[in-house]
Amino acid sequence: MRVGIPKVLNIWSTHQFWVGFLTALGISPENIVFSSDTSEDQYREYGKGRGTVDCCYPVKCMSGHYGELIFGQKKKIDILLSPMIYSLPSFLRGHVLDTLTCTRVMAGPENIKAGFLKERDVFAENGIRYVSPFVSLGEPEKVPKQLHLALKDVLDLSEEETVRAVEAGYRALETFNQRMRQKSREILTWCARHDRPCILVLARPYHMDPGIGHEIEAELQAHGFPILWMQYFPIDEDLMHWLFGEEIRAGRIKSPFDISDVWPSSYSSNTNEILWGAKVAARCPWITCVIRFSSYECGMDQPTYTPTQKIVEASGTLYFKFGDLDATKPAGSIKIRVETIVHYVEKYSRDIIRRKLAALPPRCPLLEDAASTSESAPLAA
Ligand code: SF4
Repeated sequence: MRVGIPKVLNIWSTHQFWVGFLTALGISPENIVFSSDTSEDQYREYGKGRGTVDCCYPVKCMSGHYGELIFGQKKKIDILLSPMIYSLPSFLRGHVLDTLTCTRVMAGPENIKAGFLKERDVFAENGIRYVSPFVSLGEPEKVPKQLHLALKDVLDLSEEETVRAVEAGYRALETFNQRMRQKSREILTWCARHDRPCILVLARPYHMDPGIGHEIEAELQAHGFPILWMQYFPIDEDLMHWLFGEEIRAGRIKSPFDISDVWPSSYSSNTNEILWGAKVAARCPWITCVIRFSSYECGMDQPTYTPTQKIVEASGTLYFKFGDLDATKPAGSIKIRVETIVHYVEKYSRDIIRRKLAALPPRCPLLEDAASTSESAPLAA
């Protein structure tokens, strides 16, 4: 049995759940196939003529991913699994009103599926079962029932097996997230020890896809600045307490993950995390620069532009936005903007670090880690 999963949208932050879940059901990892990174060639070869009227660029790209899994595999897949993810297992859950996904993201599979059914059933023609479970990953107690309902006939599943596989999925996701956060902590520790700046990316998970985010952060990293993604910022108690403790004691927020001071309608998971990331960036001394990515016509991002920029800039941290990203990689203009960012980061980081450190309590937990940190410069997390 071979299962194909389109590597799109919120799969970028939940892939380990799906790998853990399917592996626990006896599907070997080499039979779990993800589509490639998004590219123009992928769309032209596999998605053309099956497009959607959705103006959202990351959703449009899904046709190429579906097509690649159907037509572009040496070893055919038996199942195309494209979950409709309704909510996400965010670290902010319990501190915000909800952790829902963008509705376009959630309904994307239905939208794209139509392009493969409009003339004839392309899935059936290719001997592929199309499965698109509606799944509330933010509410683990609901997930076994949802996945059992959707997959019981396709994978011949019992309820007990599904419960165990879902648990394995969450364990795999948690292990991966913890590993990434640990890596980010090592990067921050290196920065703290060497008094060096790093750059934080504020973006949605699918901006990690080189075809959606255009690897702008990699260009900056090539200039020697470590990159952190907000999704994997370390959330250890000691660090959170150092950064937010005073505000909690003053009663301005209830916990380090409380964003009600800046974003009262905290329903959307990725939006909540972006706002939280802006708060973290404003406080963490070694984050001297934030780069914000947003895709063309993103309705979810529009209301967040001003608040994120204001939060970050109020602390003196540098802020640069790459908005309206779409299929075109404007290499020339990215190069010029990257050079501008590098100029400002080099010129102002020392002062930014000093100013932000002065606003925090004296004992930094990262410097207590420093003894165990290797001397070599870290990579991105
Ligand atoms: S969050 Fe924005 S870019 Fe992403 S799918 Fe939703 S509307 Fe599109």
